[in-house]
Amino acid sequence: GSTIGILGGGQLGRMLSAAASRLGLRCHIYEPGANPPAADVAHALTTASYDDHEALAAFAASVDVVTYEFENIPAPALDLLADSAPIRPGRRALEVSQDRLTEKTFLCDLGLRTAPFVACDDAGALRDALAQIGPRGILKTRRFGYDGKGQVRLDAPDQCEDAIAQMAGAPAILEGFVDFSAEVSVIGARSASGDIACFDPGENEHRDGILHRTLVPSRLSPSLRSDAVLLAARILNALDYVGVMGVELFVTPDGLVVNEIAPRVHNSGHWTQLGCAVDQFEQHIRAVAGWPLGDGKRHADVEMLNLIGDDILTAHEHAGQTGTQLHLYGKAEARPGRKMGHINRLRSAG
Ligand code: ATP
Ligand code: MG
Ligand code: MG
Repeated sequence: GSTIGILGGGQLGRMLSAAASRLGLRCHIYEPGANPPAADVAHALTTASYDDHEALAAFAASVDVVTYEFENIPAPALDLLADSAPIRPGRRALEVSQDRLTEKTFLCDLGLRTAPFVACDDAGALRDALAQIGPRGILKTRRFGYDGKGQVRLDAPDQCEDAIAQMAGAPAILEGFVDFSAEVSVIGARSASGDIACFDPGENEHRDGILHRTLVPSRLSPSLRSDAVLLAARILNALDYVGVMGVELFVTPDGLVVNEIAPRVHNSGHWTQLGCAVDQFEQHIRAVAGWPLGDGKRHADVEMLNLIGDDILTAHEHAGQTGTQLHLYGKAEARPGRKMGHINRLRSAG
């Protein structure tokens, strides 16, 4: 059978491996960190850094296709891998989504709406940008941000010095603050032959910058729901994408605004494990393995709740409830802000 190489051994890599295993496929995980959550589900594990070119070459030689669960893979490692295996989704999707400036420029060139944005690396540029697109904005590091890290909100010129100082020299982008009524996301999939299937958009709630809850169905009107799915398909096609992508959207009175895209399975798509015959993890594995996409139609109303940090201590309270799935990632240490697991439950189960 085929072997899928996965860069990254976190919970997403773990759930991808489990889905691959159900399809009779093998997974080889490449992960620099010790004791990755994916280790006990994968068939093979390489624990080595992305600078270890010997380990990377051996990994690439052992797999039929390379995919990934996070977007910050160093370019030299990708160059090396690309010599011996196809990388799915492809390099362009990674390049676009690794940098918020590149990403927003790409989305606007496609004719989609984003927050207004200006690259700002010093306080003077930031003051000018805030005057132009303010009065409220969010300064974000262009690269490596997740779970709201590397972001500063500002609404007055005298906050600019401090905001730039918090970027600690990292290249940054100011985004105008979007006054949204809701946040939704589309999890879309595109197969190697170019077929597209999108899951029903979910509605997302964040707490302290981290996803707290996803609800399906969302409260989107039928016309916004089809806008959301069509714009996701446009992005997938433009990137000649193969695999699953998460597209985060703001709902505004003027329509949908794209917040960001993630070239991988997405936390806000975990509800598909309970709500669909084929979930986002299986859909991604099918796509990268060159299979046809499966049936991702939603057959239930679902609530997904993240278990963050100490939430894990009360996980057992959910275990016996009707219509409830408990997913735990096997992480030993429950640090604050750390994603430890999630719960999917039928909204009708009450
Ligand atoms: P993720 O974990 O989703 O990758 P991230 O660190 O990349 O998070 P963003 O998605 O950019 O962060 O922002 C986190 C949250 O902050 C958003 O879901 C939204 O609630 C809010 N936010 C981000 N950008 C804006 C904006 N321009 N206007 C209003 N709210 C915003
Ligand atoms: Mg992000
Ligand atoms: Mg986000």
